[in-house]
This record gives sequence, C-alpha cells and structure tokens, in this order.
Amino acid sequence: MFLAGERMKEVFLKAKKHRFGIIASNIVFDSQIRAIVQGYAAVNSDGLMQMSSGACKYAAGSSQDIKAGARFIAVMVKTFADQFTQSGVGLHIDHATPNYFDFIVYCIENNLVTSVMIDASQEELSENIRITKEVVNLAHKRGVIVEGEIGHIKGTEDEFVSETELYTKPEEALEFVRKTNVDLFAASVGTNHGVTKGAKVQLRLDLIKEIDDLLIHNGVERGLVLHGASGLTDEQQQTAIRNGVVKINKDTHYQMDMAAAIQAYWEKEKYAIVCPPNLSVDDYTPNKSKFDPRKWLIKGEDAMHETVRGFCLMSGSANNSILHK
Ligand SMILES: [Zn+2]
Repeated sequence: MFLAGERMKEVFLKAKKHRFGIIASNIVFDSQIRAIVQGYAAVNSDGLMQMSSGACKYAAGSSQDIKAGARFIAVMVKTFADQFTQSGVGLHIDHATPNYFDFIVYCIENNLVTSVMIDASQEELSENIRITKEVVNLAHKRGVIVEGEIGHIKGTEDEFVSETELYTKPEEALEFVRKTNVDLFAASVGTNHGVTKGAKVQLRLDLIKEIDDLLIHNGVERGLVLHGASGLTDEQQQTAIRNGVVKINKDTHYQMDMAAAIQAYWEKEKYAIVCPPNLSVDDYTPNKSKFDPRKWLIKGEDAMHETVRGFCLMSGSANNSILHK
C-alpha cells in the first residue's frame, strides 16, 4: 500500500525503536518498481522507493521535464504499491541539491512524495542549516518527511562528484538536527557511492553510534541514514543498524543485478535475434518467443526481486511492516 508521510514516519519510528533498517531503493523504470515493490511485499516489509533528479528527467523522455517525470514515476509507484495490503511503500526524492528547491516544493505541494532529501551538504554549515530548515517548514505542513545531510559522501552522486571524504562531526550533527528539525539525518561515515568492496572502505561505524548517542542524550533522537551502502558486507550494515541507522540506500546493486541477468540471457539466446555464422541471412528467422522484451526484462526483474528480499531479511525489516497482521 502506498504510505503518506505521516504513516511513513510510523515506519521509521518502529524501525528505530526495534533497531531494524528500511531499504530505500533507487528506481527509474517500471520493471524496477515491479521487482522491488513485490520484493518488499513478499517478505511483509515496508520500504521506500527513491527517485533522483536525473531519474525524473530520464523518465520524462526527450523533454527532460523533471516535473512530468516525477508525476509519471509517482503514478507508477502508487498504482503498483496499492495492490499490496501487508506492506507499505513510500516515495522519496534522493539527493536534491538547493538548485532543485522549486522541484522539491512542486513534489510536496502535488502530493507526489512521502519524503524528500534536501542535500545542501556542499554549502557551509550555516547555509546548509538555513536551506534545510526552509524545506522542513514547507514539508512538515504537508506531513512530508525530510532527510538532511552534512559532510560529503565520496563518489559519484547524480549531479555532482565529491572527491573528498569528509566525516560528519557529531557536534555539528547535533547542531544541524536541533536547528533544522529534520526527521532523518544522513551521516558521512566513509561509505562510497557506486561500486566498492567492503574491505577497502574506510568505514567509521563507531561514528554512527557516537552521533546517535549524542542526539539521544540531547533529547533529539532521529533516524540515521546510510548512503553508498551497495558495497558493504551484511555484518557492516547490521552494525550500522544497531548503531542507529534506519534507512539504507540501495542503487548500484540493483543495476548490476539487472545488467548481469539480462547479459546472461542474451549470451545464451544470442541467435534469437542475431543470425548465426553458419546460416545465411535469407534462411534465418529471429525467434519472437525469445526477443519479446517481456522474456528478457523479467530476468532482470527476477534478479532484483531476489536481491531486495535478501536486503529486507538482512536489515530485519522482513515481517515488520506496520501493516502486517
Ligand atoms: Zn546518496
């Protein structure tokens, strides 16, 4: 079922209380939406779908009309999610930098989203606080959840690249949360966006606990968010959850699954669309039963479906939906 912001707030409060993680999955295509929403539902888990500004532009086609793209994705997510009664799904805007302020306002005012991430982490702290607070004021009037961030997460984000690795300072996190009243806080703890291996990452999972303890101690407990988690081991992610993380972002892993499954299909079924070398083109007939997009896209969907189920089991959100009876 599609969850509005107020219900999604319940999801995150439950996750924080019982220390499990909600998987936030980046999507663009309907195949991804089908695979991931069905994956959440299959294990009675709540989950979040996230769309980046780049995803919304892509979804709009050649017009690149970001608002049209957001409406299109929101309709797909809501329509599809409403089929399932034992699991809740929200829609989130991922990494919207301050130049997307109008876009955030548009999505909030048109009830397209459950939550938004305002990422002003490239600004000075005081400016980041000012911008984030403005988004919080707008969003909270409509029951929409806000995620903010300080510090940079290394690697490629949608529209900017951060080469430096800046760990979040706990005292700055406290100041940021107090002054902005964000619902979710993304800490930079050494994860990377994109493809990385757990062993190579200079992870500071202790920093998550330090930030969480400080916020709790000062009466402003929040759900923490882990970005760039595709390359981390299960143990690392479970430690992060125990230390206070309630939202784990996943993007790259799904992309690799989808590409690998479809590549394997075409390696096996190449001659369904390519004339084999031992046959003349005149004697060759492509095999419609194999090149029909439903036959190969489903391979990607099935792979992503398995992955998201695994994520929910790993993070503890399986069988913990607020709707599950
Ligand atoms: Zn991120």
